[in-house]
Amino acid sequence: MEEMHYGSDYKFIPATSIGSGIGILVLPDVYCYTVQIVNICFVGSPETGDFVLIDAGMPDSAEDIISVTEERFGANSRPKAIILTHGHFDHVGSVIDLVKHWDVPVYAHQMELPFLTGQKSYPDPDPTVEGGMVAKMSPIFPNEPIDLGNHVKVLPSDGTVPHLAGFKWYHTPGHAPGQIALFREKDRTLIAGDAFVTVKQEYLYKVFTQEQEISGPPRYLTTDWKAAKESVHQLYALKPEVAVTGHGLPMSGELLSTSLYKLVREFDSIATPDYGKYVN
Ligand SMILES: [Zn+2]
Ligand SMILES: [Zn+2]
Repeated sequence: MEEMHYGSDYKFIPATSIGSGIGILVLPDVYCYTVQIVNICFVGSPETGDFVLIDAGMPDSAEDIISVTEERFGANSRPKAIILTHGHFDHVGSVIDLVKHWDVPVYAHQMELPFLTGQKSYPDPDPTVEGGMVAKMSPIFPNEPIDLGNHVKVLPSDGTVPHLAGFKWYHTPGHAPGQIALFREKDRTLIAGDAFVTVKQEYLYKVFTQEQEISGPPRYLTTDWKAAKESVHQLYALKPEVAVTGHGLPMSGELLSTSLYKLVREFDSIATPDYGKYVN
């Protein structure tokens, strides 16, 4: 297997939440699990053993992710593929260990590939952005690219998602250039990545308690607020019934539709920071 590596600034990040280590069965075939402060999602049924993993958690969490996988899908089970919503450190933190252990392909949007093949760093996180302690500590967050070599593949251009029948991917840039969301029409299930989240991710206390509150994308890493706003509009137009977001608890039904409507209407005040180096 060719040499893969993480960014040289990758390290364990000491941040956690009361949800860490807890799994929630959102739907019979959608299982959401929290790694410290970020969610990963298993889609597929334990009966057939056919499943994929969406995102790959924090740095140093591979062992935890493998044991959660085996608890749910059986000893030595492995996903058919890993689908990345985007390449930020908290979504790819353990992906190389997982690929080495499982030998499965990883899929991402074309525009995220430079960050996944060692070519380009993400812009530096912005500690000056309006927000709390998590924003202030964001300079310790890794932003160098990982290198998955030829283990990462581009998502099909027709919108289908490999090994995930019924789902389509949607390009939702703004928070990251090649961020995607996954949506299943049949039951209006949305896996939103960080296009919007259900916790105020900039605030340590709210992250810790996981207090549920609709929010735009995490501010310290979002560089294009105009695109971020359009992406939220796009996802709102899908009228999701259930949403699993990259951070925070899953949200559904009336609470989801009213919260998303509020976020769309008041995006500039709820989501866009009043100040920060990526505003304007
Ligand atoms: Zn992100
Ligand atoms: Zn994130």
